[in-house]
Amino acid sequence: MAIAATALLDDLRTLLGEGAVLADPPDLVKYERGWRYGQGRALAAVRPSTTAEVSSFLLLCRRHGIRVVPQGANTGLVGASVPDGTGEMLVLSLERLDRRLEIDVLDRTALVDGGVLLSTLNAALSPHGLHFPVDLGADPQIGGMVATNTGGTRLLHYGDVRRNLLGVEVVLADGTVVDALSPLRKNNTGLDWKQLFTGTSGLFGVVTGAVLQTAVLPRQRATALVALADGEAALDLLRSLEGGLSEVLTAFEVISAGALEAVFRHQPNLRNPFASVPPYAALVEISSSFPETRLDLAAVLEETLEGHLEAHGEGVLDAVFGKPDTFWGIRHHVSESLRGEGRVLAFDVAVPRPALPAFTGAVKDWLARQHPFVRVCDFGHWGDGGTHLNLVWRDDEAGLPAAELVPRLQERIYDLAVKDFRGSYSAEHGVGPHNQRFFDAFTPAPVKAAGAALKAHFDPEGRLGTARLW
Ligand SMILES: Cc1cc2nc3c(=O)[nH]c(=O)nc-3n(C[C@H](O)[C@H](O)[C@H](O)COP(=O)(O)OP(=O)(O)OC[C@H]3O[C@@H](n4cnc5c(N)ncnc54)[C@H](O)[C@@H]3O)c2cc1C
Repeated sequence: MAIAATALLDDLRTLLGEGAVLADPPDLVKYERGWRYGQGRALAAVRPSTTAEVSSFLLLCRRHGIRVVPQGANTGLVGASVPDGTGEMLVLSLERLDRRLEIDVLDRTALVDGGVLLSTLNAALSPHGLHFPVDLGADPQIGGMVATNTGGTRLLHYGDVRRNLLGVEVVLADGTVVDALSPLRKNNTGLDWKQLFTGTSGLFGVVTGAVLQTAVLPRQRATALVALADGEAALDLLRSLEGGLSEVLTAFEVISAGALEAVFRHQPNLRNPFASVPPYAALVEISSSFPETRLDLAAVLEETLEGHLEAHGEGVLDAVFGKPDTFWGIRHHVSESLRGEGRVLAFDVAVPRPALPAFTGAVKDWLARQHPFVRVCDFGHWGDGGTHLNLVWRDDEAGLPAAELVPRLQERIYDLAVKDFRGSYSAEHGVGPHNQRFFDAFTPAPVKAAGAALKAHFDPEGRLGTARLW
């Protein structure tokens, strides 16, 4: 190790204590590899446990001219939470910054350190009949959720992190601590400071604390899995549910036949509840804080679906009720099961909801003409226009190497989504090295210029993060 690096690590250990600095290669493995994309090399992983320590750490990095990538639970899906390949960056892991967790039951808010895990927060909220409702199949940190503006499976009802974030505490690249931990729901006093750090991949500052609006934990949930003839039938069903049950509709997830088949093939505990695998299945969830004695939610859901069946019978093939763990199990095992099918290229795309079937159809038509060996196994948050359009193929059938095929698929499909359907190339996963070139291609020049000005203001030496928003 070079003398300068040794001196830096010595300074870090003196500043934060021996246990806060990991520099042995085996210890670094988990900090260097992203969940799905991204593999880098770190000089060390540094784990401060207070905001003051994060501040001193960033000051020291500034003195040594060292670049830093903030890392939460490392569940991000665009490769932005790991260092680049130079071996010269430090990973700033927030995993030990998890001491503050203060709940105000009357205000229905929680003040938490940036490193608190979502599951820890929800375990603390539950005895008070509350929860933080941004819900997903991973267990991220709150700071990471702010930095990526996590969406999740119940966005349709509760919104994303942005909608539930009241205040933030941020440490800037020069060590300045900005305390904007306001619990106010109304505060129209100019610039909404916290939004600059929401969904901006930690490029403008490190989120060390947040005040979150929490929601009342439902007393009951009713779920159904509805077999559907096609994507248009899914939209018809969504329209009926929003028309009749909008106050209580909390999730509307759609899973295609390709994704369902993969789950039933690779998850022996999860069985197909229908006579055959339908072209699409919609997972419908309604929930309420009313007790069952006052409102029979299961009966409400069945009645509404029966009404829909009478009006739009041809699109609905079957419906099964009341097995939430099985239904959510199917939904949350899609990604993992698809990996057992061959090579997977995942897309996190959004288009206006009415365009979901046409967009998916356009992708399938293009693939049938250009790359017929690629299967579309789509699933996702149709209630908010999001689709995880996963493409699956076997390398031995492809006829060209993945390194050549992947960019072709990405270019065409993102082009279709953004240009032809006014959609997004990153619905909820943010911007990182994995999709940087599409940010570069699709972002209007004035928006990039604003990003550059913000970066110059907050981090003029460009020492935070590996993505670019300019
Ligand atoms: C199985 C699975 C399911 C998922 N489902 C969903 C889903 O339904 N909806 C959805 O939106 N996402 C989903 N994700 C993506 C991911 O969980 C979210 O993006 C998550 O919010 C990232 O949080 P994290 O703590 O893991 O952050 P990381 O992955 O560690 O970091 C993500 C980004 O935030 C930055 N960052 C992390 N912590 C901080 C901080 N304290 N301050 C400043 N910057 C920081 C990093 O530098 C990086 O740019 C899923 C991921 C997995 C693996």
